[in-house]
Amino acid sequence: MGKGFFNVPVAVNEPVKSYAPGTPEREAVLAQYDTYYNGNTEVAMYINGKDVKTGNTRTMSPPHDHKHVVGTYHLAEKSNVVNAIDTALEARKAWSQMPWEHRAGIFLKAAELIAGPYRAKINASTMIAQSKTVHQAEIDASCELIDFLRFNVQFMTDMYHEQPESTSDAWNKLEYRPLEGFVYAVTPFNFTAIAANLPACMALMGNVVVWKPSDSQIFSAKVIMDVFEEAGVPAGVINVVFGDPKMITDTVLARKEFAGLHFTGSTYVFKELWKQIGNSIHTYSTYPKIVGETGGKDFIVAHESANAKQVATAIVRGAFEFQGQKCSAASRAYISKSIWNDVKKYVIEDVKSITMGSPADTNNFMTAVIHEGSFDKLAKYIDEAKADKSVEVITGGNYDKSKGYFIEPTVLLAESADYVTMSEELFGPVITIFVFDDDKYSETLKIVDATSDYALTGAIIAKDRYAVDEAVKALENCAGNFYINDKPTGAVVGQQPFGGARGSGTNDKAGSILNLQRWVSPRMIKETFVTPTDYKYAFLG
Ligand code: NAD
Repeated sequence: MGKGFFNVPVAVNEPVKSYAPGTPEREAVLAQYDTYYNGNTEVAMYINGKDVKTGNTRTMSPPHDHKHVVGTYHLAEKSNVVNAIDTALEARKAWSQMPWEHRAGIFLKAAELIAGPYRAKINASTMIAQSKTVHQAEIDASCELIDFLRFNVQFMTDMYHEQPESTSDAWNKLEYRPLEGFVYAVTPFNFTAIAANLPACMALMGNVVVWKPSDSQIFSAKVIMDVFEEAGVPAGVINVVFGDPKMITDTVLARKEFAGLHFTGSTYVFKELWKQIGNSIHTYSTYPKIVGETGGKDFIVAHESANAKQVATAIVRGAFEFQGQKCSAASRAYISKSIWNDVKKYVIEDVKSITMGSPADTNNFMTAVIHEGSFDKLAKYIDEAKADKSVEVITGGNYDKSKGYFIEPTVLLAESADYVTMSEELFGPVITIFVFDDDKYSETLKIVDATSDYALTGAIIAKDRYAVDEAVKALENCAGNFYINDKPTGAVVGQQPFGGARGSGTNDKAGSILNLQRWVSPRMIKETFVTPTDYKYAFLG
């Protein structure tokens, strides 16, 4: 920026549209859904600003209708991955020198494209690829992504404003350089916003990216690529490859120019990637930055002073929206005995009223889980629970994969606080309840803290302020995002920066300046105005 200190637009959260009957947004998204559903979309990879097809293709089908094919995508050969890396490194020469206001302009434009002409497309593709209801698609693919793009521009300029003191004879300038080399984004199926944000926020800071989306999200990843292209992301800055994660990752991590990993997905995969990077550390020109947001075993604790209806609502929304496939989804709940009967009654009433099916039918609160592997895993846990005398199925427990991967919203009641579904991440619409004696509240908080390897989200519901205070202290280390009198899901960019610790990730808080700081390598420049000409200090005299 040579000719002005430019202010960026003040970031504001994108309002969530209602999609109520009769609204134009509802008409537009359902029409787009039909077009995609009845079409045959071919998704090429995107390398050096060009579509790349290998002819080695796989079909794409909606999880709620898995025999129906909506298109195909092309799988990478190793040479495509090598090409994506080389292209990124070539693009770096110009992109890393691009003035920040142009980088900002591109991603602010991307936000406006999604808010306007691409809104129906990105929502409809997310409804099809990930089986999200229109509301879940809207809060993810449109609103959260728009927020990431707008707020990150603001956070970038906030960061650039952070400058050291200077004196009259020396001017100190801190320059926030992009990382030297290229960075690698590996993204999960469950949020279109995360899929776009991981490569985009690194590119915003001047980095060049190889991005590998999840196989289950490619239909909506295509819309993201279209938006980036139309917004003016230059060729080679974000390169997208699909296919065998192991081959792609091995090719990327073998390169000496590898400078950073931005990962969101499961804990096991992230730990394996960390290990692989560690084993290759002597290969790299620089210490790679490693950011990973991973699994969770997110909890609700309800004190005896809690309102039972509020607890039930937090359970139903927290555990079953998007089929429990949010990393923040409530999957274990600890309920005080004196309110349990009421909570149980309300939860059963609510769950009985939930309808499940295609997202094209907007009466459905839930749709299918992401793929057969996930369905089979959930069915196995449910069967084991049914066979276990120490567990009662309070509601749900049925499943059917004949048309789509449908699992009923399921509530288990476990006699033991360390039953397997109280500690392992299932990633589906199953919540396990443990009921504790009212006078065992303090003891129960210790159990909550010690039960799982994760520390992502959690909630305390109580009227008693001493109980709230005790939970805030006792549960300090078991959630990176902690909620008082709310469900543990629904973090909003700019309001609740998101991320967990322990097995849940590096806690670099997506949607905040803390995350962007990981993608720069600051250079300190000191300029001395009157340069000394004599080596002797005064004390020598
Ligand atoms: P996943 O770990 O199966 O896949 C994530 C990505 O890793 C995908 O792109 C996948 O292809 C890739 N991958 C898989 N195996 C790999 C390998 N051996 N080498 C390299 N890459 C590999 O996760 P998922 O099922 O897509 O997403 C669900 C998981 O993500 C859950 O555990 C959830 O809690 C977590 N998640 C966490 C957050 C968070 O912010 N903490 C947000 C969303 C999802």
